[in-house]
Amino acid sequence: MSDSNEQSPEFIYSQAISYLQGDGVKADSAKAAELLAKAAEMDYLPAVRDLGILYLNGDGVPTDYEKAYQYINKAASKMDPNAVYHLALMYENGTGVQKDLYQALKLMAFCAAANYTGAVEDADRIEDELDAARNKYLDARPIISLDISEVDVEACCCKPMLDAVKNKDITMDMTYKGPALFGADEDGNEIVLEKCPFCGKLPRIVSHDKVY
Ligand SMILES: [Zn+2]
Repeated sequence: MSDSNEQSPEFIYSQAISYLQGDGVKADSAKAAELLAKAAEMDYLPAVRDLGILYLNGDGVPTDYEKAYQYINKAASKMDPNAVYHLALMYENGTGVQKDLYQALKLMAFCAAANYTGAVEDADRIEDELDAARNKYLDARPIISLDISEVDVEACCCKPMLDAVKNKDITMDMTYKGPALFGADEDGNEIVLEKCPFCGKLPRIVSHDKVY
């Protein structure tokens, strides 16, 4: 009756999916969650991921963002695009994890590169949110010094520089020497800017100390 195949995580997982979809059985997400937990205990990654998604949605189990993060993050760390996708949304919304739009965008860009359905549009949306949050923060900073971190331009030295950074005409990128400012020369070629092209202030390396 119970040969080893029926105890394999693949088999248990396929049963769980049948219960989730009501495929040949009456749909029962609580039963599905039970089976997913069993397969997840065997470290079967699709089960780990799907159990996390059930905890995220409160489907068959009580909503538990902490558990959702644990399971989804575990599957995402193995580069499962579906898990990475859900993790990106959790970072975007601050669900079970501190909101971090940079992290959300990085993860969603990975999904977009893996051709995960909808990820390109989602990455565009997150980028817009990030730009808005970043520009709001930049506007609130005193215009005194030119500060860059390993993540972004943190503060600007003068109004023209602020506008150039907000328009992304001038950006921060990492070089082998650390964070540096990039702009374009007269021919439109990307060049490293040693100083502010408007007021001549030298950039100062600071830490990225805010989360949005
Ligand atoms: Zn300047």
